[in-house]
Amino acid sequence: MVTSRSRSDTLSGVMIETEPKTVELLAMLPQEMIPVMETMGVPRFHARQIFKWIHQRGINDPTLMTDLPKSLRQQLIGMRLTWPAMVSAVHRADDNTRKLQVRFNDGCAVETVLIPEGSKLTQCISSQVGCAVRCRFCRSGSEGFVRNLSAAEMLSQVALARESYLPGERLTNVVLMGIGEPLHNFTNSLRTIEILNHPDGLDLSYRRITLSTVGIVKGIDRLAEATAGKLALAISLHAADNATRAHLVPGVKSSVEEIMAALQRFGLPKRQRFTIEYVLIKGVNDSPRDARALVKLLSHLKVKINLLPLNPHDRTDLEPPDEATVLAFQQLLLDKGFSVYLRRRRGDEISAACGQLLATK
Ligand code: SAH
Repeated sequence: MVTSRSRSDTLSGVMIETEPKTVELLAMLPQEMIPVMETMGVPRFHARQIFKWIHQRGINDPTLMTDLPKSLRQQLIGMRLTWPAMVSAVHRADDNTRKLQVRFNDGCAVETVLIPEGSKLTQCISSQVGCAVRCRFCRSGSEGFVRNLSAAEMLSQVALARESYLPGERLTNVVLMGIGEPLHNFTNSLRTIEILNHPDGLDLSYRRITLSTVGIVKGIDRLAEATAGKLALAISLHAADNATRAHLVPGVKSSVEEIMAALQRFGLPKRQRFTIEYVLIKGVNDSPRDARALVKLLSHLKVKINLLPLNPHDRTDLEPPDEATVLAFQQLLLDKGFSVYLRRRRGDEISAACGQLLATK
């Protein structure tokens, strides 16, 4: 662990934190490691080499960093370059979706999911232990909020999941869509994104990293500024009218109109679209009237819509609509020219589907 006056006050040009903070080497960008190299009395170019070992090659054992001088490897061993986490359980579904439970040094645990699809491998990572938003249908938030994850803890989910790749698999996409509201943990989420995006790391373009949010307007604006509007953004909307939304997502104060306005000013590149997530719940938000309200609300935005019939679980009495209602809802949107996808329930039998992940403390 390295303590430094945060050099990241202006990470990507955005003010994120002004007080001194502690950032582990494992969660530093190469340019942030340079002062650390200087303190250790070694040339600055070693910063880039170390970053590559950790994030591109997935190796954090300094003894294996063969292009570094021996004395530097010794110093790094003294700095304990270990991920602050371990994999405490792995479940694999028939379709090769894998759910990993990752336990941190304080005993808290979250879950992360690997989802293969054709040549793509997507990892869904968690950003908090628990969640403060308390969406009425979500299992992950049912126990309330415990704490934010550090960037190292978020990145450790990606690093530790490497051991669960199947032969030939390579990570192509990351979604911040697991447990937690990533925009309530803005600084660490952005740091994680910047590291995943870095050309000397996994080099995942912003298009391949999706942040899913319940619609925190201030956070959306900051994200737009930090990523020049290029990051893939998913909004968990679930209702086009404010009364239904306030019932389903009681933790968010902004109106749907304010959230739409934030998307309008996001600065999305021409060929990109926002993702709108809509959990369909029997008798709550699944009527033709609800669909028409959604059409109206989204009419000025470039979006694709993911419909997720509610995944049932032990913490909610809400139910998914029947198949005919789901298809009718989808058809109404399709008829208005929207791209609408019915999300298949990946990993349902191992409780790895949307809203089924659980944190433990
Ligand atoms: N807080 C973020 C990310 C976590 S939730 C967000 O709200 O976007 C990830 C997605 O799963 C969200 O779209 C959420 O609404 C959805 N989800 C939660 N519970 C669900 C359930 N029981 N069935 C289907 N989707 C659910």
